[in-house]
Amino acid sequence: MFLHSDFDDTHRELFHTVQAWAKKTLAPGAAERDRDASFDEALYRRLDTELGLMNITLPESLGGSELDVAATILAIEALSEQDPGIAMSYLSQELLFAHQLYWSWHFSGRNMPERHKTILKNKWISGMAMTEPNAGTDVLGMSTTASRTEDGFVLNGVKQWITNGPVGKAFLVYARTGEARRDISLFMVEAGIPGFSCSECEHKMGMRSSPTGILTFQDCRIPETSLVAEFNGGLIPMIRNLAIERLGLAAQSCGIASTCFEEMRRYAIERHAFGKSIVEFGQIQRLLSESYASLLAMHTMLYTTIRQVMDNDPESSVNADAVKLFCATAAETISRNAIQILGANGYSTAYPVERLHRDSVLLSIGGGTNEALQKNISRQLIRRKEGLAWT
Ligand SMILES: Cc1cc2nc3c(=O)[nH]c(=O)nc-3n(C[C@H](O)[C@H](O)[C@H](O)COP(=O)(O)OP(=O)(O)OC[C@H]3O[C@@H](n4cnc5c(N)ncnc54)[C@H](O)[C@@H]3O)c2cc1C
Repeated sequence: MFLHSDFDDTHRELFHTVQAWAKKTLAPGAAERDRDASFDEALYRRLDTELGLMNITLPESLGGSELDVAATILAIEALSEQDPGIAMSYLSQELLFAHQLYWSWHFSGRNMPERHKTILKNKWISGMAMTEPNAGTDVLGMSTTASRTEDGFVLNGVKQWITNGPVGKAFLVYARTGEARRDISLFMVEAGIPGFSCSECEHKMGMRSSPTGILTFQDCRIPETSLVAEFNGGLIPMIRNLAIERLGLAAQSCGIASTCFEEMRRYAIERHAFGKSIVEFGQIQRLLSESYASLLAMHTMLYTTIRQVMDNDPESSVNADAVKLFCATAAETISRNAIQILGANGYSTAYPVERLHRDSVLLSIGGGTNEALQKNISRQLIRRKEGLAWT
């Protein structure tokens, strides 16, 4: 409905194909997967076997489609309309692992080790591990270490809240490799090797169809080829991928908000009270119209900023933060408005809006909390010598 004029036919077709597939294939079992907190691996694999969604931005030689990151973000939005948990697992594998691993090597100008290529080609379920029990927003305060040995590194530490942790076969892991706060390196680590174990996190409020784990490294030996690109250069891929991750998460908010809006619009027309449709009441019109205005703003911001990020526009970093902040907050409000319009039905599992509302809350926390984004945005705006140029 809101697809930007910037998008070409490939983007449009991809979005509509994934949207229709998600409605037919993800919607029917979404409530059950949420209730049971279950990750359906066979269903997840169909994202690739039926839609070709894995390795979208990678070359064909690595099983990719050679599309741009806008395609991935549109796919994430379309999946999030029905099952944001499955979409989050996809985001972790696609943007945080495959895209990050491939492009980190590409930008470094070095050759990617054959093992990394094999893992990408085989489209292993995967994820990215940055957060620790005592270092979330303060990511540079991480304490996981990678110490050099004769033929590689030894990892020690714990990573928490890692999407796909319990089911993933490979992870990009950030670890400290020097004394200074910025001495961080990125490693590609395969699950199941000695010294690497994983357990499930506590039960979650939302995104329950996506598995989340605690990764523990205890004297875990990894080869030299595990290092991704530069030693002590982990901040480069971390920062480069952040704007893209934030747009992916904003796309999740857009998907959630779109479905909630459509549910409330339909219900407001069909539900009658005091002899008329409730959509005729001004207070319901206010919830509906304000939700629509926010939905339009969310999509306009997201789609404009995707282009800026792809063009390396100097405003893209602050704008990606602003888009995530705005979209996360708006999705929470819109999904809450939907519950209000649906009354008791909205509060129950008879409709998807209570599930989507719970899912929406993660988007104010994961990949940078609202507070962290408020600080980042303010810091970047204060640093400017010039005022904003709107033209
Ligand atoms: C379902 C789920 C999936 C996740 N997946 C991944 C993943 O795949 N990989 C990964 O690495 N991480 C993942 N995370 C972790 C997520 O990115 C972190 O939870 C997030 O960065 C916040 O860190 P924290 O939870 O430690 O909160 P904290 O950093 O401890 O923050 C707690 C509160 O303090 C506030 N706060 C902190 N510092 C400041 C400050 N300077 N000023 C003002 N307020 C501040 C925060 O905004 C927040 O409100 C996931 C989390 C969840 C819940």
